[in-house]
Amino acid sequence: MASPTETTATAIQLIIPDEKNTGFSLNPKISAQVKDLDRMLKAKIAIICVAGAFRKGKSFLLNFFLRYLTALVSGNTEDWINSDDHHRSGFHWKSGSKRDTTGILLWSQPFFIRKPDGQEVAVLLMDTQGTFDHQTTQQDCTTIFAFSTLLSSVQIFNLSQNISEADLQNLRLFVEFAALAKSSEGKALQHLWFLIRDWQFPDEHQYGEEGGSEYLSTVLDCSADRPQENKELREGIKKHFEKASCYLLPHPGKAVRDSKFTGDVQRLETEFVEEIESFVEKIAAPENITVKKVNGNELSGSELIDFMEVYFEAFSS
Ligand code: GDP
Repeated sequence: MASPTETTATAIQLIIPDEKNTGFSLNPKISAQVKDLDRMLKAKIAIICVAGAFRKGKSFLLNFFLRYLTALVSGNTEDWINSDDHHRSGFHWKSGSKRDTTGILLWSQPFFIRKPDGQEVAVLLMDTQGTFDHQTTQQDCTTIFAFSTLLSSVQIFNLSQNISEADLQNLRLFVEFAALAKSSEGKALQHLWFLIRDWQFPDEHQYGEEGGSEYLSTVLDCSADRPQENKELREGIKKHFEKASCYLLPHPGKAVRDSKFTGDVQRLETEFVEEIESFVEKIAAPENITVKKVNGNELSGSELIDFMEVYFEAFSS
């Protein structure tokens, strides 16, 4: 049976495009829309975000996080992947090519998870507008990607088939921005995951994290014969993120090409389901949750709200 929070939670806009589409503003009603606000303000925070071009399965992935976190909160994660279908009420996603997410979306229900050391963490899920898609200007794209990365403790850069030079170049402005946000205490940014959908070369690098790690080393290799500026970009990624990882996912199977497909797990390829399960747990299992840190200090919910305002001001000016 669905709990009350499951039925009433929804995706809310964290930043909203201006009427004239010239930029964004921070949603002033965000605190009023987040559920269990008082509890969240006191807890430590973890934010899992997914960014990347539109129609590449970001919301689809976030629905698996919703499903897992809901199972964790209910105390039973056995067979969570097949648990109550969140895909119908979760982050809005559908087949086709029309974009339906704008700005940055936050799931209104924080998930209160106890880490093995007893610490309670409020886990928040974030979805982004189709960053790097053809309708988004470079400025908007940088704002969304940079702001969501600064806020998150885990940023998942969702990519199709491989990490292209263009994908890395999209990080350039952002990495330069991160250099400005860097404090003397440590790295400004936490964990960056490159998630490669529809990986086609499992013979070269197998699906999962290990294969992803081998692949990422080849992509971020600075000794290779590359122009100096591309080397600097790669150095920047290594320098500003505490950790950069990569995960290779197989194709989910032909069900996703069906316009009537609503996310039924039974219709997905078993190998895909197993890998998604492992990826989600790698990030959201209690022992793996990364608490948001700024200048080396773990953030509470109330500090997050202050931090959000300060950083957003910095972007807008
Ligand atoms: P978003 O715009 O990035 O949030 O994309 P959606 O989550 O709305 O997904 C867009 C389409 O891609 C839907 O039809 C999904 O069924 C499909 N999809 C989801 N995951 C994958 C994947 O790993 N590979 C492929 N090829 N399609 C996927």
